[in-house]
Amino acid sequence: LSKRAYNFNAGPAALPLPVLERAQSEFVDFRNSGMSIMEMSHRGAIYESVHNEAQERLLGLLGNPAGYKVLFLQGGATTQFAMVPMNFLKEGQVGSYVMTGSWADKAYKEAKLLGGAHVAASSEEQKFRAIPDLNAIVPAENAAYLHITSNETIEGTQYFKFPDSGKLPLIADMSSDILSHDLDINQFGLIYAGAQKNLGPSGVTVVIAKEELLAESPSHIPTIMRYSTHYKNNSLYNTPPSFSVYMVNEVLKWVEEQGGLAGVEAKNREKAGLLYQTIDGSGGFYRGVAEEASRSIMNVTFRMESEELEKKFIKGAEAEGFVGLKGHRSVGGLRASIYNAVPYESCKALADYMTHFQKTQA
Ligand code: PMP
Repeated sequence: LSKRAYNFNAGPAALPLPVLERAQSEFVDFRNSGMSIMEMSHRGAIYESVHNEAQERLLGLLGNPAGYKVLFLQGGATTQFAMVPMNFLKEGQVGSYVMTGSWADKAYKEAKLLGGAHVAASSEEQKFRAIPDLNAIVPAENAAYLHITSNETIEGTQYFKFPDSGKLPLIADMSSDILSHDLDINQFGLIYAGAQKNLGPSGVTVVIAKEELLAESPSHIPTIMRYSTHYKNNSLYNTPPSFSVYMVNEVLKWVEEQGGLAGVEAKNREKAGLLYQTIDGSGGFYRGVAEEASRSIMNVTFRMESEELEKKFIKGAEAEGFVGLKGHRSVGGLRASIYNAVPYESCKALADYMTHFQKTQA
């Protein structure tokens, strides 16, 4: 096997090596069927067992909450930005959004197009360096739901506690932190995530929701855009992204082997802690973007004194086998995405490189 990169990509991102190796070993002939899983009918017993197993594992990792259903959809989290308001906004209602950064803004804009959107709280004045105070989050009186972005992938902020939405369903875009820490899903009406960070390859979008929110959808929206269509057909209304769902199932097995959510959370805190310590201990050479209480354990964002120095840092890092450290093109700076499958060793190597780089600049 060739050497694996120190992969800090923001998504698609690192996958667990044992999962890739297992997929490789069963790639050509899946369970003695004489074909790969990509070549078989999605209505056959073999594929359906994988599909159902992945749903069960996901709920199992979340503690088997009563009354929740998993959907496997397509179109990424971006499609969920539209499906949420399409399905839940009734005449005269708005979606209330907590504005924490780039992704919250994209979700908000779709609701605005499709009925109405309201800002329940915003950290824009703090340049999105923090999650707003939970007590400052006030949904509109005519809100159909409260929407949050549990982890802002670009700015590097994350919720560790969630607002109390009262009777309103709390909806969360968890694309970049699903299954990264222990979670009581009972607080949420619906969560969604593109798979390509913590769950598997791109191509499948996971929705986990209370069944009462999925059972009925407005009949004026296209059939494929209704949650009820996918709910009633066990996400087999149309052809699912079968290979991606298979990969998600394998990643979920791996998460179980890590000790479930508590196990991955402990590892993630260790990895993030090491990088933030390196930043904080650099005497200002590296500067964390997010405020301490809102710092993401998935996307570590930081800056240096000048863009020139940041370029030099990235160039040197690339030569040492580090990939994906450039901040998002919209904000610049540096970002290390350290999703579940990024090993501690990669973070240690990065911390060592950071310390070394600082010394060479003295
Ligand atoms: N929300 C968040 C928080 C994200 O990080 C991303 C992708 N980086 C998206 C939504 C968009 O997801 P997709 O590309 O799967 O549509």
